[in-house]
Amino acid sequence: MYGKFGEFLAAELASIREQGLFKEERVLESPQGAEVTVGGAKVLNFCANNYLGLASDPRVVAAAQKTLDQWGYGLSSVRFICGTTSLHKQLEQELSTFLGTEDTILYAACFDANGGVFEPLIDQDSAIITDQLNHASIIDGVRLAKARRFIYKHADMADLEQQLTAAAEARFRLIVTDGVFSMDGDLANLQGICDLAEQHDALVMVDDSHATGFVGPTGRGTCERFDVMGRVDIITTTLGKALGGALGGCTSGRKEIIAWLRQKSRPYLFSNSLPMMVCGASLEVLRILREDPEPLRRLEANQKQLRGGLKELGFDVEDGEHPIIPVHFRKQENDAVLAQKMSAELLDEGIYCIGFSFPVVPHGQARIRLQVSAAHSTQQVQQCLDAFATVGRRLGVI
Ligand SMILES: *Cc1c(COP(=O)(O)O)cnc(C)c1O
Repeated sequence: MYGKFGEFLAAELASIREQGLFKEERVLESPQGAEVTVGGAKVLNFCANNYLGLASDPRVVAAAQKTLDQWGYGLSSVRFICGTTSLHKQLEQELSTFLGTEDTILYAACFDANGGVFEPLIDQDSAIITDQLNHASIIDGVRLAKARRFIYKHADMADLEQQLTAAAEARFRLIVTDGVFSMDGDLANLQGICDLAEQHDALVMVDDSHATGFVGPTGRGTCERFDVMGRVDIITTTLGKALGGALGGCTSGRKEIIAWLRQKSRPYLFSNSLPMMVCGASLEVLRILREDPEPLRRLEANQKQLRGGLKELGFDVEDGEHPIIPVHFRKQENDAVLAQKMSAELLDEGIYCIGFSFPVVPHGQARIRLQVSAAHSTQQVQQCLDAFATVGRRLGVI
């Protein structure tokens, strides 16, 4: 049987290659950091989610090593059989304290947190109202629920209100949004969303994967940034981005919601416990966030330096406050070609960043998405700006 199926897949693979949609993986030959080795060359990395530079921080690595020695490698169990340690309980408690919530449940990834949050909570008599640009894991999680689904136009509060009205008959309503949208680095209007939720008697869920640890005055995320802590019922987030970057995720919020998820959420019930070394390292990350404001301060300074510098050079960059900085080509006709060509030439200049074009982003909105980190030095950010100036002039972008 496989012969025909194999031929079919080979043809599909050839077809996406022809369309330029085949994703090549670049192989790193060094730890994650501001500088990485790719293909034998040292380059500056401007495409990791390593916002606070903690992925290879010696304090985090030491905490993981210490936990490994104390607790061993793995648990070989799900949480409810024999896979819950005091370390898991401590991490759940400290995440709740950090996020300002009542309780937290850990998952192997935020993808699993989102996969396991809707189906147990929102049944066929209820409705989920979801931003059009929400993350793939939210889309998949919503698909698993029997609830009615209402999609509102990205960040459009008038349309959200219309969808809430359309869902008025539902027993319960849950609005769900990314806290930060990864392609543009724009923040959800959580004030507006919470106001509408209160007017229309709806619950609110925020996926803060691109915010936890560094958005808001003390890095607690978009709920802190918009002063709505306590008004959001459910937060999902990842340990795999700013908070050390290994893996793991969680759902945090009202205590009855979390208690119910521990009983009913399938990725929690039927998938293995988070490794203890990840718990130990994550606790160290939370300690660093409490006691060391330097990564947060450096990240903000780097974000301003890079965004401001690119604008000054004449690149098509929007105002913003997030370390995701898209460089657009909206004044050029061949935006997709330029984004690819420019990112390739930037790599030759020692700057590793990725060009995105259709279908990842809409037609005519190709971009290079830069992500700056607290790990970058002022001089490294300047090197990035210098390379953009050189390549941008060469390709006639500026
Ligand atoms: C990265 C991301 C996820 C997935 O997180 P993992 O822990 O890597 O599974 C989920 N939601 C959003 C918004 C993300 O950006």
